[in-house]
Amino acid sequence: MTDKTIHKTIIIGSGPAGLTAAIYAGRANLKPIVFEGNQPGGQLTITTDVENFPGFPDGVMGPEMMDLFRDQAKKFGAECFFKHVTKVDFSAKPYKVFVGEEEYLSETVIISTGASARMLGLKEEEELMGYGISTCATCDGYFFKDKNIVVVGGGDSAMEEASFLTKFAKKVTIIHRSDVFRASKIMLDRVKNNPSIDILTNKSIDSVNGTQKDGISSIVLNDSVSGEKSTFVCEGVFYGIGHTPNTAQFKNIIDLDDNGYILTKPDSSLTNIPGIFACGDVQDDHYRQAITAAGSGCMAAIDAEKYLEDNSI
Ligand code: NDP
Repeated sequence: MTDKTIHKTIIIGSGPAGLTAAIYAGRANLKPIVFEGNQPGGQLTITTDVENFPGFPDGVMGPEMMDLFRDQAKKFGAECFFKHVTKVDFSAKPYKVFVGEEEYLSETVIISTGASARMLGLKEEEELMGYGISTCATCDGYFFKDKNIVVVGGGDSAMEEASFLTKFAKKVTIIHRSDVFRASKIMLDRVKNNPSIDILTNKSIDSVNGTQKDGISSIVLNDSVSGEKSTFVCEGVFYGIGHTPNTAQFKNIIDLDDNGYILTKPDSSLTNIPGIFACGDVQDDHYRQAITAAGSGCMAAIDAEKYLEDNSI
């Protein structure tokens, strides 16, 4: 099926970046189409309380906040579809966006497909994510005041998260699956010199004991050298094993950096293709916050509007 309409802008992704772009594009009368993807609302829908988004002094649940974003976008004429974009063709204008066999045309495309935190694949993960397991220390560290927490991973993310979490936790223990660290020497040394941080090497998490009601009470560790299992008492588990940008559909189409993030021109959302913009975590492997993603979504809508003024078909 081909939708013959040439849309002004199609937004791919529906986290804080995409839906903020939709609010701004809607108010600019661009009648944005939003394809929400496989995880409507984005990463915030797998968190619970969000306490650091301005305007919510009492906090707000992540999924609820994203519903509010969506309602606000729809109020200004955005049309949101629970559809996953499978392919794009940016070789000629109007640009083509595919949802399976369905084809859509647009003068501009805003990409806000985000990044996904890597998961360990534990069977308790789905139930306890947001209830003791977290993928974001900045977001959730505050909820673990005076608790024992573990950080999984041996790269810079894990080191950074562990250092940050010592502001709240009683004790932070890094659990790494080998004894070779990818982390830079400076960050590893900082962790080793911090008396609030212990490091356990050659250990992986076998299972997590806990419930949504009471949170986590302990984890079971597996020692990769001895093969022995042991119980480790802790109340929080932070994953610091990296993120993967959701850019599979854009590989060899748009310029990406070595880690797969979309490259944008400095201080803008412009990609290497005129009329194609990127915002949020798909082009930011540094800040990764809802508020920064929302800010860049606003930039993308303004950039798209300006582009359309100058280049309308
Ligand atoms: P990395 O890929 O560098 O490290 C991931 C770590 O997680 C590795 O130690 C890896 O172990 C471990 N890991 C991956 N999968 C699993 C798994 N299934 N089970 C257990 N452990 C696992 O990712 P980072 O996010 O740490 O860093 C990404 C990039 O961002 C790097 O270039 C880094 O330097 C940069 N960065 C810089 C920061 C800074 O300078 N402030 C802060 C954060 C990131 P293994 O080594 O065994 O594969």
